Amino acid sequence: MSLLLAQQEIEFVILDDLSSGRRESVEGFELVEGRLDDVALLSALFSSRNISAVMHFAAFIEVGESVVNPAKYYQNNVHATQSLLDCMVAHEIKNFIFSSTAAIFGTPEYTPIDEMHPKQPINPYGRTKWMVEQILDDYDHAYGLKSVCLRYFNAAGADPGGRTGECHDPETHLIPLVLQAASGRQEHISIFGDDYETADGTCIRDYVHVEDLSQAHLLAIKYLEEGGQSGRFNLGNGRGFSVREVIDAAERATGRKIEIVHGDRREGDPPVLVADSTQAREVLGWEPKFGALDMILDHAWGWEQRHFLGKEA
Ligand code: UDP
Repeated sequence: MSLLLAQQEIEFVILDDLSSGRRESVEGFELVEGRLDDVALLSALFSSRNISAVMHFAAFIEVGESVVNPAKYYQNNVHATQSLLDCMVAHEIKNFIFSSTAAIFGTPEYTPIDEMHPKQPINPYGRTKWMVEQILDDYDHAYGLKSVCLRYFNAAGADPGGRTGECHDPETHLIPLVLQAASGRQEHISIFGDDYETADGTCIRDYVHVEDLSQAHLLAIKYLEEGGQSGRFNLGNGRGFSVREVIDAAERATGRKIEIVHGDRREGDPPVLVADSTQAREVLGWEPKFGALDMILDHAWGWEQRHFLGKEA
């Protein structure tokens, strides 16, 4: 996101407590180290700058961890976020872009999933995101805080220029793990369930490139700054790929054979999650450019090679 903002010559400052972010990812940009709920710090920041919008990427995102440690999730994802919103209201900053998630929908009743689909999150992570969306509705109504919630489906890929990519510890996401199996950093990839009611029995997801997600944020800022009403948008390519198809694409992108182990289903995994992003296209003018799975894998593989193996892709 920072790379894109800089490219567009939009001035920004990053606030991060570096609990999972890495300093080197934002090298060359202004970084303030601190927490979202540090009211004194935020007040000082908001009073000393002319800030027109805030983008929030600061949630914890591990579904499994949210089940065993919900307090961590409600504290950071809801309470700290509300503290930020209160600070924005106090400083009359009116525009807010929120990273939301397909997890707010829970197990889909129909697919592709549009914005009207019932919200029945099935884990604390999804519930925290849905709570913030509801808080935002109330804050708009009462305080005129305008917000765009961007509900990412499966964020994937890496900066096409090769400067940033996924780096979680521990890593739990399919694409980075498949590529670790290709590069030899893992022995194999485990498929979590091959008895779902899908064509090949494995779960289907809508993988959306991080560059396309970043573009959606830029469009969302523009939309709000031009007077747009608060909006909620599902962001995906509208095309699902199974775990098997992702592994096949990874073998093509890397030219390597990937060892597969068939494991049990992972708790809380819906069989199919695919987005209907018509609203984002029509209202924000969003046009994903990197929808092809092979391109997503290619960029992620470039990052795996450069960052973790020290090789030029
Ligand atoms: N998955 C898998 N093996 C792994 C990690 C993930 O089979 O080692 C599956 C997972 O069950 C889901 C899909 O890959 O169906 C995408 O999972 P990921 O964790 O990347 O994203 P999520 O859909 O949970 O947001």
